[in-house]
Amino acid sequence: MDLRGELLIGARTRRGKGGEFHAIDAASEQALPAPTYNSAQASDVDEVCTLAESAFDIYRTMPAERRASFLDDAAARIEALGDVLIERAMSESGLPRARLEGERARTANQLRMFAALVRSGDALDARIEPALPERQPPRTDLRFQRIGLGPVAVFGASNFPLAFSVAGGDTAAALAAGCPVVVKAHPAHPGTSELVGRAIQEAVRHAELPEGVFSMLFDAGHEVGAALVAHPSIKAVGFTGSRAGGRALMAIAAARAEPIPVYAEMSSVNPNLLMPAALAARTDTLARDFVASVTLGCGQFCTNPGLMLGIAGEGFERFAATAARTLSDVGAGVMLTGGILRAYEAGIERFAANPAVMTLARGKAPEAGSRRAQAALFRVSAQSLLADHSLADEVFGPCSVLVECGDMDELRTVLNRIEGQLTITLHLDEADQSAAQALLPVLERKAGRILANGFPTGVEVCDAIVHGGPFPATSDGGSTSVGTAAIERFMRPVCYQNLPAALVPEALRDANPLGVHRRVAGRYERTSG
Ligand code: NAP
Repeated sequence: MDLRGELLIGARTRRGKGGEFHAIDAASEQALPAPTYNSAQASDVDEVCTLAESAFDIYRTMPAERRASFLDDAAARIEALGDVLIERAMSESGLPRARLEGERARTANQLRMFAALVRSGDALDARIEPALPERQPPRTDLRFQRIGLGPVAVFGASNFPLAFSVAGGDTAAALAAGCPVVVKAHPAHPGTSELVGRAIQEAVRHAELPEGVFSMLFDAGHEVGAALVAHPSIKAVGFTGSRAGGRALMAIAAARAEPIPVYAEMSSVNPNLLMPAALAARTDTLARDFVASVTLGCGQFCTNPGLMLGIAGEGFERFAATAARTLSDVGAGVMLTGGILRAYEAGIERFAANPAVMTLARGKAPEAGSRRAQAALFRVSAQSLLADHSLADEVFGPCSVLVECGDMDELRTVLNRIEGQLTITLHLDEADQSAAQALLPVLERKAGRILANGFPTGVEVCDAIVHGGPFPATSDGGSTSVGTAAIERFMRPVCYQNLPAALVPEALRDANPLGVHRRVAGRYERTSG
C-alpha cells in the first residue's frame, strides 16, 4: 500500500487544504520523503462528523454479527499490512521492531476481543423486570439495555502508535459499542496512521457499512482536534496524552451547548511501595527489576514506575545504591518526538535544580543534538514531597524519584496526599501482609489497578483489567480504557417501559432470540453461552 498523505473522509480520500507537515524519522530527526501531509480544515471536520451522525443509527442497529465480522476483518487487514507497517512505525516512533510487532498483535487481538464481546451480547447488559399487575400500585413491564452513545472523536496517542492510535483501544471499544469513529491522527506518526486508517476504511467498504462509520483527519496543530470536540454530532471523546491537552479538550467539551464526556488519560507516576520484608529479602533484584521497568521503551509508558516509596534504613540505602549503579549503565534511548524530549529535559532540570532533590544517578549521556533521553534517578525525603507536591508530578520518560519515608505512617501520609494514579504496586512478602492490608483502602481510593510483586508497565488486555484511575490519571475514574469494560464508556442505558412486544428490541424479547445473557426478575437467566 503506497502512502498518499490523504485525509479519509468516509469512503473517500483527499488531500487536506490546511498547513503542510512532514513525517519525521525519530532517530535522525530528518523529514521523511513523500508524501507530505496537509492539515484538515473546518469544512472537513463538519463533513466527517455529519457522515458519522448519519451512519450512527444504521450501524448501531445492525445485527451484532455484522459489526463483529467487521472488527475481525479490520484486525486481519491490519495484520496483512505486514512489514510495511512495522517499518514505517519504527521510523516514525523510534520504537524497536519487537515492541511494535507486539503492539500490532495487541491491536489485532483487542479488535477480535471486542468482536467476541459484540457476538456475546454481554455489553448490552440486558435486564427485564416483568410487569407485576397484582402489586399495589401495579408495576408495568420494564426492560433495559445499553446502546451506543453516538459518534466518538478519538485522538491517537503518540506513545502507542498502533495499540492506542488509529485502530487502538478507544477506536475498537467505540466501534464495538456501535459508535462511528472520527480519528484525529497524531502528527508524530502520520504514515503509520494512514496505513492503519486505510485498512479500516477498506474493512468498512467490504462489510458494506455506511461510509461514515470511520473517518480520519490530520492536523499538525490544535484546530482540528478542538473543532472535532466542539462539533454537535460528536457525543464522546477518547484521548491519551498530556494533562494540558486533556484539560483543554475537557474545557471545550464542557463549554458546548450539549456538554459531552471526555475520556482522557493524562498523567500518572504509578507509585511502587517497597514493603520492609520484601525490600530486605530481595533488595538487589528489586532494584535491578525496577531500573529495567523505568527505562523500558525509554520510559514512555503511562504506567512507568515514577515514584518509589520505602522506609528509611539499610535496605532502602542498598536499594538506592544498586538502582543508581544499574541505571548509570543504561544507554540513552530515542524519544517519540522532539517535543516529548524537550518536556522530559525540562522536567529533569526542574528536579536537578531543586535543593530538596538529590540526583542519585544519570544514565549514559546521549550524543549532543540527538533525540535521545538520558535516564535519571532522584531521591527526596517524604517531608520534602509533602511540602512540595510538584515533586510527585509526572516527568514523562526514563525518570523516577525514590522517596524515603521515616515509617509506615509517613508512607501512608504521602499516599493520602498524592493525586489519582493508574496503578499502585506493592512489593511485599508474607511478613508485610498486615501492613499492606492496612494500606489497601488508601490504595483503592488512589488507583485503578493495584499490583503485587511485579512492575506496572505491562497491561494485559482482558475482561478483568482496569486502565484508568482518579484524576489526573484519567478525567473519569469510573471507567477503563483497556479491556472489555472499556466499551461501557461509549454506551448509555435505555429503559423500555410498557412497550408493545413488537417494539421491544430483539435482545429483550421474551423468547430471547439472540440468546444473550440477561438479568430477569432479579436473577441471571441461564444461557448456553
Ligand atoms: P499531547 O501534546 O497532549 O497531544 C496529544 C494529541 O492531542 C495530539 O494529537 C495533539 O495535537 C492534541 N492536542 C493537544 N493539546 C490540544 C489542544 N489544546 N487542543 C486540541 N488538540 C490538542 O501529547 P503528546 O504529543 O503525545 O506528548 C506530549 C506530552 O504528553 C508528553 O511529554 C507527556 O508528558 C504526555 N503524554 C503522556 C502520556 C501518558 O500516557 N501519560 C502519553 C503520551 C504523552 P497536535 O500534536 O497536533 O498538537
